[in-house]
Amino acid sequence: MSASVAPRLPSIDALLRHPACLPLLERYGREALLSRLRQLLDELRADVLNGQLSAVEISPQVLAGRVGERLAQQQRSHVRRVFNLTGTVLHTNLGRALLPDEAIDAVQMAARYPLNLEFDLASGKRGDRDDLIEGLIRELTGAEAVTVVNNNAAAVLLTLNSLGARKEGIISRGELIEIGGAFRIPDIMARAGVRLHEVGTTNRTHARDYEAAISPRSGLIMRVHASNYSIEGFTARVPTAELAELAHRYGLPLLEDLGSGSLLDLTRWGLPAEPTVRQALLDGADIVTFSGDKLLGGPQAGLIVGRKELIAKIKKNPLKRALRVDKLTLAALEAVLGLYRDPDRLAERLPSLRLLTRPQADIHAQACRLQPAMAEALGEPWQVSAVQALGMIGSGSQPVARLPSAALCLRPHVSKRLRGRCLLNLEAALRALPIPVLGRIDDDALWLDLRQLDDEPAWLAQLPQLRVES
Ligand SMILES: *Cc1c(COP(=O)(O)O)cnc(C)c1O
Repeated sequence: MSASVAPRLPSIDALLRHPACLPLLERYGREALLSRLRQLLDELRADVLNGQLSAVEISPQVLAGRVGERLAQQQRSHVRRVFNLTGTVLHTNLGRALLPDEAIDAVQMAARYPLNLEFDLASGKRGDRDDLIEGLIRELTGAEAVTVVNNNAAAVLLTLNSLGARKEGIISRGELIEIGGAFRIPDIMARAGVRLHEVGTTNRTHARDYEAAISPRSGLIMRVHASNYSIEGFTARVPTAELAELAHRYGLPLLEDLGSGSLLDLTRWGLPAEPTVRQALLDGADIVTFSGDKLLGGPQAGLIVGRKELIAKIKKNPLKRALRVDKLTLAALEAVLGLYRDPDRLAERLPSLRLLTRPQADIHAQACRLQPAMAEALGEPWQVSAVQALGMIGSGSQPVARLPSAALCLRPHVSKRLRGRCLLNLEAALRALPIPVLGRIDDDALWLDLRQLDDEPAWLAQLPQLRVES
């Protein structure tokens, strides 16, 4: 154990010139390579002095290999594609709607070239970015005007602030909802500078409750579509048309936050009924807000549609500038809205609708087809079966409605005590695949709902790499 026999670390210069490092130099550049080499040598120095490392362990080839792994790791993108086999189609944590090819092409164009974002090509004068989609929105919803912001939460905040600041916002107690995390209607109202005036009860609110709340302090009446829960049983809710009539009698605007905001009646595709934007406007709502990436199937955005003079007021609010959307979003949104002009072909062309309407028999056939490959990848300790399952739309749309689907159900053949650990290990192994696979654990099994498995070849190709810790 004398220092004289301990091998010596190669110098940085020698390593940089060594053929084993040349491909790394080429690929990652001198600066990144140098800093990783320094870091590794620093880590090894003490062990080398103590004679704990062999000559091979500190050979340039081995050191280059280790540094190469670190550089590759560092280089890997943090934004990663995954397989969403959770059964929830519009999954907020997994990016909600997938864009159609038409929108992807439009985004590419907008990213690559200058464009008429705020420039009127007809007159040669300055334009307004909302004008790019206003015609389409008017045609598809019957609204007089539109303005687009970053998401529906922003749409609600901006509308409340523009129309109700320093006044009272009247809303039913049954609609004071929370939509995931920090978005709660009472909090948003407060931040918008609107004083909450809640009326009625959780399960029943009547027209007379609203009417009794109206005073000179009132600024607006708000209605929120209870998109992520349902109240059943002894309930009462004032129809929008009646509420609009009441609001207008007192000169107040009625604001309706639809959330999902479907543009077409989804029952024509066998999906649960959702109120449409057009119907809400026909019923008399003065402003309707909804998301771009829920049932609409487009990019993240918040659409504010309705009466022209109210939209004009909203657009003048300085907050609009802070919440506006960028060119990529507008390009995608226009392309998606364009597809709605041909409802007959919408389910073929709009990925979210195509996935939501995929027949159960089709998904089940896929599950049967993939069962042998999955069983082989997992081996003896797992029972793999192709079964019927129930998925959901997601993103707060129709929380109680279930989509008949099919899944691979993976059950460990182990004692009940070990089952939980086993399932977590499998979940982790699926997440560690090159394209992480996300399922859901339920009833002592891991379920891979195949409704959204489009790219079967890529999924199959990586299965042999599955390594489950036992
Ligand atoms: C989803 C939802 C929101 C928030 O919309 P984001 O697009 O997620 O910002 C607001 N209100 C309702 C009723 C919703 O369903």
